[in-house]
Amino acid sequence: MSLASSPPQTHALFPIAPRSPQRPGHLLAGLWLLGALLTFGLGPAAAQVEPPTLTIGTASPSGVYYRTGRAICRVIEVPCLAVGTGGSVANLEAVREGRLPMALAQSDAQYRAVKGLEEFAGAGPDTDLRSVFSLHSEPFTLVVRRRAGIDRFQDLPGHAINLGNPGSGQRGTMEVVMDTVGWTRSDFAQASGLPADQQAFELCHGNIEAMVYTVGHPNRSVGNAIRLCDARIIGVEGDVIEALLAAHPYYSRATIPAGLYGPDQPAIATFGVRATLIASRDTDPGLVYDTVKAVFEHLPRFKDHHPAFAELTPTLMIQEGLSAPLHEGALRYYREQGWLD
Ligand code: GLU
Repeated sequence: MSLASSPPQTHALFPIAPRSPQRPGHLLAGLWLLGALLTFGLGPAAAQVEPPTLTIGTASPSGVYYRTGRAICRVIEVPCLAVGTGGSVANLEAVREGRLPMALAQSDAQYRAVKGLEEFAGAGPDTDLRSVFSLHSEPFTLVVRRRAGIDRFQDLPGHAINLGNPGSGQRGTMEVVMDTVGWTRSDFAQASGLPADQQAFELCHGNIEAMVYTVGHPNRSVGNAIRLCDARIIGVEGDVIEALLAAHPYYSRATIPAGLYGPDQPAIATFGVRATLIASRDTDPGLVYDTVKAVFEHLPRFKDHHPAFAELTPTLMIQEGLSAPLHEGALRYYREQGWLD
């Protein structure tokens, strides 16, 4: 049984270096310029572009976070950049260390960061973490090659599986699932640490038999696996989901609706989390207020950016999946609207 260990990568598309909180600094300016050049294909004449006032950490470009970050940037009036990162856990670390003012993170990872659990045990509880609002549902998604002999989640041991890159939300979720059901990496024929934008490719080539992704739907990674390879989505049901829901208050039942990846795709029962927007206590309250105000005042336009946003309402966005205290800038807007006391 061969066990592939995961390389210690962060998979930042635009590497982010430390900076002090509240100060954009020359590193972020450089980041913005690099991002602008890569994102918009700008030439040297554009070298005078203003650095962003707001930089939002997202995840892989093949997921929904990247689209979410860009959607937020489109509704706010200040210069804004959505940057690719390793995902939720990397984002929580970056916000804690003052390297990003705001970022997206799964609600389960937010909970573990606030409490200092699991991958955050070394750093301890993050008392400066603040939530801003929550967003779309992210069902835990298992995609398998059709002839791999994996008909249910419980069949995974013995197969070659991608756990997700270190720093990703799916990697953190999968580790909690494995702990709960008593699996270790050595139970799999192979346990890889591929980022989301590579896993469908490796599944197509037969280098892995299954991949997990905690993500909104539809998305490119799952779409490519199903469209280009002989792959399908498998639910998480029975004793596994019962054990997870009993042990972890931050998980709830979720469904991947039928037909999102073609007419043959049935509705899939699984468990899930919510995407959330996070900040630090040190993040400028005016910037958080302006961001929140812009998103809620343009909610219909914001929701047009991705089908996963269709369910969003202000009530859901200020109540679901927020373990960290609300940021003071967000709280000010919610109080002004009469949504909170
Ligand atoms: N939930 C994933 C993570 O935290 C990202 C999903 C996405 O990119 O939409 O890493």
